[in-house]
Amino acid sequence: MGNIFSPRKGLGTLDFKNSIAVVTGAGSGIGRATALRLAGNGVTVVAVDLNQDSAAKTAHDVNGVSYVVDTSDAKQMETLANKVESEVGPVTILVNNAGVGMTGRFLDVSLDDWLWIQNINLNGVLNGCRAFGPYMVKRKVGHVVNMSSGLGYFPRATESSYCTTKAGVLMFSQCLRADWFKENVGVSAICPGVINTNIINATKFLGERNNERELTATKKLFAKGHSPEVVAKAVINSIRYNRAVVPAGVEASIGWVLKGMLPMVVQDLATRSKFMGGV
Ligand code: NAD
Repeated sequence: MGNIFSPRKGLGTLDFKNSIAVVTGAGSGIGRATALRLAGNGVTVVAVDLNQDSAAKTAHDVNGVSYVVDTSDAKQMETLANKVESEVGPVTILVNNAGVGMTGRFLDVSLDDWLWIQNINLNGVLNGCRAFGPYMVKRKVGHVVNMSSGLGYFPRATESSYCTTKAGVLMFSQCLRADWFKENVGVSAICPGVINTNIINATKFLGERNNERELTATKKLFAKGHSPEVVAKAVINSIRYNRAVVPAGVEASIGWVLKGMLPMVVQDLATRSKFMGGV
């Protein structure tokens, strides 16, 4: 066993060409771009999504295979892991990317809504790690990439549900990284800023946020966002260099640096300001 300064044995040597990657939410946006980029690096890609047609399209485009699975269902994920291991081969890369959005002040978020987003965004990531982790840990090779968000460290008054799930993913990833360090399994969290994908169509607008003006303004904002390719590149680099946390997009990078630099009193004031999304 190495000490805390010794690099992961596979660091820089995880052979993409002999890798099999499972990407969840691979039918759209960041997941699809990641699947394409991994395939471009010679990785065999398993595209997983709730949506059968989009999963099949990505699988076709990467010359891989697709499975229709709800990542929030632990049993389905366990079955998926066993199937992929026996039907495709040993999984070395797991990208827990599937996720949805929600905007609304806390008291406008019902318990059902809260559990809905928590089950997909946070528990979906845990389910992936619980299902595929035992195989990676047993073989002592692999890399897990979990999709957090810039909102995982940047609080917003109207996104407590989404921010909480993403902060959970970020903290979980850092804990798991330390846990699996001696197993030679790397763990990275990616924190994208605003990315131009279909996520707004899978976002619940609640309470006073649920109106045409808000929907149109948010759609406009995301249309100006970065290409999902920016995040796909961050995913590849996180695996190649075994990075702990990787912000993707300039606003996410600035937020990450400021988070580490600014005293809490300034962060608190900023979060309440209108400019930063305060109500
Ligand atoms: P997207 O809507 O374009 O793609 C998400 C994909 O996940 C869809 O194909 C959808 O069918 C699938 N999916 C949703 N729930 C699922 C489930 N339970 N099981 C299986 N598949 C499921 O969105 P995106 O922007 O590409 O989002 C991907 C990830 O990136 C999410 O976790 C999101 O929170 C995160 N993210 C996105 C942004 C952004 O600005 N778009 C920013 C930060 C983080």
